[in-house]
Amino acid sequence: MDITITLDRSEKADYIYQQIYQKLKNEILSRNLLPHSKVPSKRELAEKLKVSVNSVNSAYQQLLAEGYLYAEERKGFFVEHLDTFSSEEQPSSSLPDDLKEVHIDQSDWISFSHMSADTDHFPMKSWFRCEQKAAARSYRTLGDMSHPQGIYEVRAAITRLISLTRGVKCRPEQIVIGAGTQVLMQLLTELLPQDAVYAMEEPGYRRMYQLLQHTGKQVKTIMLDEKGISISEIIRQNPDVLITTPSHQFPAGAIMPVSRRIQLLNWAAEQPSRYIIEDDYDSEFKYDVDSIPALQSLDRFQNVIYMGTFSKSLLPGLRISYMVLPPELLRGYKKRGYDLQTCSSLTQIALQEFIESGEYQKHIKKMKQHYKEKRERLISALESEFRGEITVKGANAGLHFVTEFYTCRTEQEILAHAAAQQLEIFGMSRFRLKESRPQPDKPALIIGFARLREEDIQEGVRRLRRAVYGT
Ligand SMILES: *Cc1c(COP(=O)(O)O)cnc(C)c1O
Repeated sequence: MDITITLDRSEKADYIYQQIYQKLKNEILSRNLLPHSKVPSKRELAEKLKVSVNSVNSAYQQLLAEGYLYAEERKGFFVEHLDTFSSEEQPSSSLPDDLKEVHIDQSDWISFSHMSADTDHFPMKSWFRCEQKAAARSYRTLGDMSHPQGIYEVRAAITRLISLTRGVKCRPEQIVIGAGTQVLMQLLTELLPQDAVYAMEEPGYRRMYQLLQHTGKQVKTIMLDEKGISISEIIRQNPDVLITTPSHQFPAGAIMPVSRRIQLLNWAAEQPSRYIIEDDYDSEFKYDVDSIPALQSLDRFQNVIYMGTFSKSLLPGLRISYMVLPPELLRGYKKRGYDLQTCSSLTQIALQEFIESGEYQKHIKKMKQHYKEKRERLISALESEFRGEITVKGANAGLHFVTEFYTCRTEQEILAHAAAQQLEIFGMSRFRLKESRPQPDKPALIIGFARLREEDIQEGVRRLRRAVYGT
């Protein structure tokens, strides 16, 4: 059989064997070389193309390995019989325009996002030192998958930390570490009874609401009263699993008083299948009182599933969160036996190092002071810019608060004006979970200040005023 191949021998060209491989492959696919026909011997082809036998051999070996050719002993190489593709189209990586990502440069923006942490004040050097130490000390650990719940010593360090700072009572065996509250919540929905009815605070954490809805769960929403999630509404709506943020209601900002906490725990204890999920996302930051013990610390019947995260206290980009499973649910989890840990071992061990060296507590102490001052400065800037036309709501805690404005603009109009001025900010309607709920008459915005730089406070507040009133 005759094969005509022209080779590009210029310096930029691919290796000779790759060209031979590619051309033969094309000939086979286009059926210029017929199935079961014999291809020239290596020596023949090498002579014809004036290349080394080695080059032809490499090309043939590759075609053999991929199944374009087959070998018969003492006879040589033959073309494999291949079905033709049902489409002539070449494989392509085209993507519809609506799926393409548009990268907006937001470096000039000022952000009132509630989703971020202060990177300028994060002790990067100490963190990297911990990572380095972690890698050096535990490089063997990095060669294996970690325990599905996370490395035991890391869980032990977290257990000691939350016992000390949050009063949480548990053993390291009960902790499940994961790359974010969302993956843990997903897991939890699989551990809880499949037909469980959930209830969330209204307003509340939209991502969690969406996750539950998308996994096909029935989710009720429960309005807040002056003490937080309304107990009479809970009794009326009768859910099995209640998700709450007692330490700092998200997003309204109230701290749940102990009277309501006891009511919640008693409600959960009434029926064997009731659980409370305590989302304790930013409890480290209380500015005029000491830290308030977790709801879990008062729980006598192990009905509370405690969820914690290092996204607010350290950095959201680290993706390290955890939950404390009551024994019943832990048993169900262990029976599954197929889970893998989602958080990187290096991050886990670095965190352990960071906690055990005292850096964590030092950092929290420093940030508490820093956030307290930033919050005060921001609120007084808002009050002087808006005079009597603004109300600030929420306890003196956490990394965000809620503001209401006397204005004829709607929330949507304000957000559009804010974006036009490169101000990132979110409206309360994002956190109203059920659209059917009555809308308040005054527009309300969430103001997160973790990421806000001191030198941007004045300018941020000016932009906000223009978004609310200006042109
Ligand atoms: C930030 C936050 C969390 C934590 O989310 P991660 O996935 O752990 O980063 C949980 N709940 C609320 C309400 C939050 O704002």
